[in-house]
Amino acid sequence: MDDFIKLLDKNLEYEKHGIIGDTIYIYVHSTLEALECPYCGVMSSRCHSKYTRSFQDLPMQGKKTIIVLNNKKMFCDNPDCEHTTFAESFSFIKGKFKKTERLINEIIQVSKNMSSVEASNYLRKNVVRVGKSTICELLKKGV
Ligand SMILES: [Zn+2]
Repeated sequence: MDDFIKLLDKNLEYEKHGIIGDTIYIYVHSTLEALECPYCGVMSSRCHSKYTRSFQDLPMQGKKTIIVLNNKKMFCDNPDCEHTTFAESFSFIKGKFKKTERLINEIIQVSKNMSSVEASNYLRKNVVRVGKSTICELLKKGV
């Protein structure tokens, strides 16, 4: 399980997982102590708080996979920075997206060769919850 998580980001650490119905929930956190402020580029190791965010990843063992991330919020101590805090961010998930990049890529690959209705049905069978409109949106954006 840890390997699967490290493929997303090598700084992630697997904590535990639980299975509820057709869904696997995987709890992770990043092991980085110091993070770079995205606004000014100064490193900070002063943690403000933590919050959880969850998003869908590639299915595993025929089950939907939800990653529950313990996300850090950090102080930026740079007096010249306009922001006093910032959230830890990751390359495998964009902004407030609810799906990982690798899942989105998979959806796009499948959807390129079918209609959005077919793709939605196919993906649902393969335990990715995605609607026709999301598929259209993803294809349009060409993410
Ligand atoms: Zn800053």
